[in-house]
Amino acid sequence: MKELGLRLQSILFEPDVVAHLGADLFAVLLPKLAKAEDIHLVIEKIQKLLLSPFSIDGLPIAVEASIGVALYPGHARTSEELLRRADIAMHAAKESGSGHALYDPTLDKHHPQRLALMAELRQAIEQNHLLLHYQPKINIRDKKTVGAEALVRWNHPQQGMIPPDEFIGPAERTGLIHPMTYWLLRTAIQQCREWRQAGLDVVVSANLSARNLLDPKLPGTVVELLRDGEVAPEFIQFEITESAIMTDPAHAQKMMFTLRDIGIRFSIDDFGIGYSSLSCLQKLPVSQIKIDKSFVIHMTQNKGAAMIVRSTIDLAHNLGIDVVAEGVETEQTLNQLEEMNCDAAQGYYFSKPLPVNAFSLWLQESLWGLKKSGENSQKI
Ligand code: C2E
Ligand code: CA
Ligand code: CA
Repeated sequence: MKELGLRLQSILFEPDVVAHLGADLFAVLLPKLAKAEDIHLVIEKIQKLLLSPFSIDGLPIAVEASIGVALYPGHARTSEELLRRADIAMHAAKESGSGHALYDPTLDKHHPQRLALMAELRQAIEQNHLLLHYQPKINIRDKKTVGAEALVRWNHPQQGMIPPDEFIGPAERTGLIHPMTYWLLRTAIQQCREWRQAGLDVVVSANLSARNLLDPKLPGTVVELLRDGEVAPEFIQFEITESAIMTDPAHAQKMMFTLRDIGIRFSIDDFGIGYSSLSCLQKLPVSQIKIDKSFVIHMTQNKGAAMIVRSTIDLAHNLGIDVVAEGVETEQTLNQLEEMNCDAAQGYYFSKPLPVNAFSLWLQESLWGLKKSGENSQKI
């Protein structure tokens, strides 16, 4: 911390101030910033500062930082408020793993705009204004659909469709993620049952967030919903990100084993951009990983991305884990994935996420749709 303080001081000018607020928390005050955009130059400078390792007793130590920014007078008018909002932004940066974040009222639990949006979300859940769109997962060997990912949508009466990235974060921070997840599980399980009754066998994947993994009521609720929906657990799969597991690994692991014992299978979402390694997954009941779309989208042009995809597939297979590539947008990508022995694929090349009726039709009519009965099927 001492060394870090010195490094921070070394890149700032009079009258900037560096303060050590406690533990691993620093504040930097930049009273002379000419324009708000220039903050990015300072962020870059601070991030560069951390690139070279710190040396403790001759041991090189790598340090990472999450930087939160609040601007005066746009974000706050008093010093207390400014510090508080910088802290909110810092936590957002930490949670998203992005390294830095600018304060935004939607991050702030107490901001009126956020409070209003969350009050409306609560209503939307109760009044069924949320909906699920479904996107197929295709088995690369026989080019047929084996499952569908359920993705939540909010059709707001005034604002129209609000993308999930805008309300899931706030819902996590306010606890509304719990009723939302229960709603989505009930809906997805119900849908799975309707498809099965119509002779369409689709494994439905639902996304869980970090907070869900800490919810002691989740396993009981899942058992109840499966029983009420008369759906076998092998038709439901949960997708969780590495960072959700890393928020509280001990609890997450316990929860995953409890759900595994119920019969639920897990897929690790956005694999490759988080902190965990495949060896860490060995300790968890994981049957599938989804390689993050940022690697898949670029793999046909970028050798590095292709190499990461190829080695991830090989390592996962050696651990007995299936691999899904997400973000497959072209035939060329699909061919390359097939050559790499990837198990399944998902992306705009096959279909965008679709409303339920359109998806049911797609399942029956698309070339990539479900296998007709009689053909051998293989579940992923
Ligand atoms: P995700 O779980 O990684 O979902 C995949 C996202 O990638 C979806 O965005 C999907 O529309 C998009 N996508 C699919 N194929 C392609 C492609 O070929 N190219 C590109 N560029 N993108 C593709 P969406 O639906 O906006 O969801 C964003 C994120 O919101 C999801 O990322 C997930 O983290 C979260 N989310 C969505 N629904 C739920 C939910 O029900 N519960 C929770 N906890 N999170 C959800
Ligand atoms: Ca997902
Ligand atoms: Ca993903």
